[in-house]
Amino acid sequence: MECSEVIVIGAGIGGLAAALALQRAGVQVRVYEQAAALGEVGAGLSISPNGALGLKSLGVFAEFRKLAYAPDEQCVRHFKTGRVLATVPRGARLEDSYGERYYVIHRADLHQVLATAVLANDPAAIVTGHRFADLQQDGSGVSVRFDNGEWKRAEAMIGADGVRSRVRSTLFGAEQVRFTGFVAWRGLVPMDQVPSEALDPLCQVWIGPGHMINRYPVRGGKLLNFVAFAERSGWEDEGWSIPAQVAELAAEFADWHPWIRQIIAAVPERDLFKWALCARSALMRWVRGRAAVLGDAAHPLLPYLGQGAVLAIEDAVVLGRAFQQAADVPEALARYEGARVGRARFVVERSSLQVPRFHSDDPDSFHHEVPVDEALGLFGYNPASVPV
Ligand SMILES: Cc1cc2nc3c(=O)[nH]c(=O)nc-3n(C[C@H](O)[C@H](O)[C@H](O)COP(=O)(O)OP(=O)(O)OC[C@H]3O[C@@H](n4cnc5c(N)ncnc54)[C@H](O)[C@@H]3O)c2cc1C
Repeated sequence: MECSEVIVIGAGIGGLAAALALQRAGVQVRVYEQAAALGEVGAGLSISPNGALGLKSLGVFAEFRKLAYAPDEQCVRHFKTGRVLATVPRGARLEDSYGERYYVIHRADLHQVLATAVLANDPAAIVTGHRFADLQQDGSGVSVRFDNGEWKRAEAMIGADGVRSRVRSTLFGAEQVRFTGFVAWRGLVPMDQVPSEALDPLCQVWIGPGHMINRYPVRGGKLLNFVAFAERSGWEDEGWSIPAQVAELAAEFADWHPWIRQIIAAVPERDLFKWALCARSALMRWVRGRAAVLGDAAHPLLPYLGQGAVLAIEDAVVLGRAFQQAADVPEALARYEGARVGRARFVVERSSLQVPRFHSDDPDSFHHEVPVDEALGLFGYNPASVPV
C-alpha cells in the first residue's frame, strides 16, 4: 500500500510497538510524546506467550529476552499462613502449548528495547514535548494540533495516549469511568532486603480478604517488583506516578504474613506509587475516518490478568499487518478494528471478573484445575498469524 506517513500519539509501550510495526510495513512514522524526554518510568510488567510472540514478530525478542525473567512457575499463597494454595506452571509447558513462555520485565526495559528499535529504523521517528490537543481530518489525511500551537499532517493518525486518552475523547466523546473500590500500590524493593526464605519461587501471588499482592523479580533479579491491592473508599485518583507513603501501605497489610510485612517495610518511599483502579467498558468502535485508537486508549483494563501491555503489543502487530495487506488507509484501519475489537473486549471483561476471585474472604478455598488465564484461552492468540 502507498502510505507516506502515519502520526502516532504517545510513546508508551503501545505507541512504540505500533511505530515499529508500521515501519516494518514500510510506512514512515512520527511518534509525538507529551513528556519532555523518554524516561525511566513504571515498574514491572508481565508478558505472556501471546505478547512474546508479538515481540518476536516485531524483531525485538532477542533484546527483550536479555532483560526479562522467565519463571518456571508462580505460586498462590494464603495471606496469613503463607500456605501454597496453587502452583501455576509458567515455563516449558507453556512453550510446548503456545510456542512461547511467560516473562516479567521492568516497564522501562521493554520501553527502551522498543524505542531503540524504532530509532534505529529512523532517528527522527520520536518527537518529545508535543502534547496532542485536537485534530481535523478530510478524505486524504489528518491534521493534528498540539498544545504548543504546532500543526502536523499525515495520511493517518493512531492515538496511543494511554488510559486517560485525549485522542479517544476527541474522537468518541467522554466515557463513563467507574471506580472499582480498589486502590493499587506498586513498589520496587532491593532484592537483598527480601527474606531469602520468601524467594522460592520468585514469582508469587498472595491473596486475602479484600487484599492481594503480586510480586516478581525485575532488573536481572536485583529488584523485587510488587503490586498490592486493597479495598478503599474516598480516594479515586487515577495516574501512574502518584507518590505513596510506606506507613499507609504497611497499615493496610498489618495482619499479613511477616514476609509480606518485611517486603513492604523495605520499599524505599521514592519507589512507591499508588493509583485508583477504574473500570470502563471497551469501545465498540476504534476508528473514525483516518484516525484510530490503540492500547489503553482503546481498551483500558484492570490488571488482574496481567494483559495491559500484552494487548497493546497485540494491537500494534495486527495494525502493522493490516497496513501491509490493505490497498489503502481506510481499508487498513477497518481491518485493524475488525480483527481487534472483539478480542480486546473479551480480555477487558474477563479482567474485571477476576476481582472477587483474587480478593477472596475465604482464601483457603482457592483452587484451579487450569490457571484462569489459560482456561480463558488468552495465550492461544498469536497476533502474528490471526486473520486480519
Ligand atoms: C508513566 C507510566 C508508568 C507505568 N507503570 C506501569 C507499571 O509499573 N506496571 C504496569 O502494569 N503498567 C504500567 N503502566 C501502564 C502500561 O504501560 C500500559 O497499561 C500498557 O503498557 C499499555 O500501554 P499504552 O502504550 O497503551 O499506554 P501507556 O503506557 O500509558 O502510554 C501512553 C503514552 O502516551 C503519552 N501521552 C498521554 N497523553 C498524551 C497526549 N495528549 N499527547 C502526547 N502524548 C500523550 C504518555 O505520556 C505515555 O507515554 C505505566 C504507564 C505509564 C504512562
